[in-house]
Amino acid sequence: MQFRDLNAQYRALKPAIDAGIQSVIDSSSFILGKPVTELEGELAEYVGRKHCVACANGTDALQLALMSWGIGPGDAVFTSDFTYFASAGTSSVLGATPIFVDIDLDTFNISPQALEIAIQKVIKGGKLKPKVIVPVDLFGQPADYIKILPIAQKYGLKVLEDGAQGFGGRINEKRACSFGDMSTTSFFPAKPLGCYGDGGAVFTDSDEEDVKLRSLRAQGKSPTDKYDNREIGINSRLDTLQAAILLPKLKAFAEYELTAVNKIASLYTKYLKDKVLTPTIPDGFYSSWAQYTILLDNEKQRSILQEHLREKGIPSMIYYPRGIHQQKAYQLMHLSDKEYPNTIEATKRVLSLPMHPYLTNTEVEEVVRSILEVIK
Ligand SMILES: *Cc1c(COP(=O)(O)O)cnc(C)c1O
Repeated sequence: MQFRDLNAQYRALKPAIDAGIQSVIDSSSFILGKPVTELEGELAEYVGRKHCVACANGTDALQLALMSWGIGPGDAVFTSDFTYFASAGTSSVLGATPIFVDIDLDTFNISPQALEIAIQKVIKGGKLKPKVIVPVDLFGQPADYIKILPIAQKYGLKVLEDGAQGFGGRINEKRACSFGDMSTTSFFPAKPLGCYGDGGAVFTDSDEEDVKLRSLRAQGKSPTDKYDNREIGINSRLDTLQAAILLPKLKAFAEYELTAVNKIASLYTKYLKDKVLTPTIPDGFYSSWAQYTILLDNEKQRSILQEHLREKGIPSMIYYPRGIHQQKAYQLMHLSDKEYPNTIEATKRVLSLPMHPYLTNTEVEEVVRSILEVIK
């Protein structure tokens, strides 16, 4: 059994993907070719934003968004403590200071309550200027923008949605990657919408930001002259090949893959909900199930279960084994575990199960049976 079966997806989409790759090779237009523009249009329409600027990966997408707002030394950028490193690291790369915020244990997303306390603490400290909130749509579920956006407004902060795992999720009818002032996603192969290498995108509704992002991803060039560099940018483009691969994948994602993962998640929940803590999806929220993550009683139970699954040939993953505040890269900030009780709980108790649109009912039942052999 595979944790995320990319081969099964390729078998289903092979003719369209192969044809896309071949046509890029025939055209020799490898950088910013027509499929990139086409994909940007389709992605913007899908998520419900005016513009999409494709780039080299989800990390660059976050960095480009922060650069376009001029974020740098002296600025505080608030993000979840329980996330992939890039949500935090990108602020540090620009010389800004990331402030890590504890999560809500039921959704694993940034706690709006802890967020407001963290903002007030920074204001009181008087050393940093609060500038941006980077909520993360962890495991496919949008962060609680209903509570986060008013907090951002109250303190005059921008919101940058890290939708690397969130693509396809929504709150009521509003889709992930359309929340806040700007949003980003990643096309790393294992994400809800993945390519065959690295890829990412930034979304915005602002015409000026769109122009700025296109400049920043190409060394700060002017819109009309490649050798007229007006600001400091980076080199971060999406390969035409990746765009050609993503076009049929986006179609399959929208037509049936997203529905399929939601069916699989319901099945897991139905079989497991009385035995372990299964994911909570609040009313009006809809997940794209980048991960299906259960909460065990404690670290010991988790390691026994993970070992048992391993013996049965069932892969499982710990996302994430430590909070960002525990990373060695941030040891000089001297942050205490006491400030992050829910992150600490999560790191000890989470376990992500195999999840992808091509998982069969038989496979789901096999995973469930093996779990129930350990947890009675
Ligand atoms: C994967 C991921 C990123 C970074 O995406 P890359 O394409 O790997 O650079 C950023 N944030 C989160 C939450 C992610 O899961």
